[in-house]
Amino acid sequence: MSDKQDTFEPELRRDPLTGIWVVIANRSGRPSGETEREKVLPASACPFCPLKEKTTPPEIYAIRPGGGEPDSPGWTLRVVPNKFRAFDAGLPLKRQGMGMYDYMTACGAHEVIIETPDHEAQIRSMPREQVGLILDTYRLRLDDLRKDPRFRHVIIFQNYRVVAGASLPHPHSQVIATPVVPKLVKDKLTTAREHFQERERCIFCDIVAQETYDGRRIVSQNDTFVALVPFAARFPYEVNIFPKRHQHDFTLMTEEEKWGLVDILQDSLQRYYALLGDHESGWNVPYNMVMGTAPNLLPRPGRPDYWGTIEYDYHWHIELIPRLTKMAGFEWGTGFYINVVLPERAASDLAHALEPAPESQPVA
Ligand SMILES: [Zn+2]
Ligand SMILES: [Zn+2]
Repeated sequence: MSDKQDTFEPELRRDPLTGIWVVIANRSGRPSGETEREKVLPASACPFCPLKEKTTPPEIYAIRPGGGEPDSPGWTLRVVPNKFRAFDAGLPLKRQGMGMYDYMTACGAHEVIIETPDHEAQIRSMPREQVGLILDTYRLRLDDLRKDPRFRHVIIFQNYRVVAGASLPHPHSQVIATPVVPKLVKDKLTTAREHFQERERCIFCDIVAQETYDGRRIVSQNDTFVALVPFAARFPYEVNIFPKRHQHDFTLMTEEEKWGLVDILQDSLQRYYALLGDHESGWNVPYNMVMGTAPNLLPRPGRPDYWGTIEYDYHWHIELIPRLTKMAGFEWGTGFYINVVLPERAASDLAHALEPAPESQPVA
């Protein structure tokens, strides 16, 4: 394993959770952030801004401190169905074989959490209380969607800025409930279960313990959470955030842990901004945030014990991925990733990103 910070031999690293091999290769030095300049939708044309409530599908949930009718102004956060949804709760769940293929209806839910009325806001600089409300809403939507036994998994993610997949710049998260557990998630769950069956330990707790002991890939930590660059990071400056206390599900967070998460999330995004953001426009680097939590644990017909040990073997976490590089043929064709920044270097850059620049010495 290479330990040098600037130039290094290409390496193959296998992620213990997914089994995915990653090529760590210093091909072009630090990525220049050569992402396309996106067209920015002004607030006047934004359907998520206040006074445009009727342009979204009718709201599912909202916080209106002063009260008021649904789909009227005065809200601090709204949840609405995605107008262009990939999954639809109205579709009946139908599983069917078609020759060698399995067919299924896209029965599910696809919701948008409009995180704030402020078109220009960013998580990194929002009031702490507002980020707390967003996390409360994540929990609420998870609890609600899991009551539907057709939904096997719920994923919550955020695409910040257009190039990361968001079609609107107004700060929002998306919630998608699917009728199957997605492959990548299932692979992780299976690996975690096997690790537990062999060792009676949580693989995520093991990773956090080893990384804390090693220290080279730790970005920051507080009493309840730790942010680190994964050993086999697929992307430059990828960061994973783990609760320090073992817990398989996001909804199990205590109030104290919730504020710990708010802090480390804002801190991580401030580090991205300091290191990779556009300081002229005030924009952060485009990024994806994905929250990986336990699947829906409602018993399945015929498979009552399917997730029998999940309480002990799985550990929810958040992935932050800055969009600095593009996937190309090699990645798509092989499942390999090429990461041009050594994970230890990325962690060290992020760990020092918020330190004031050293004062320049006067020349004698
Ligand atoms: Zn807006
Ligand atoms: Zn754990």
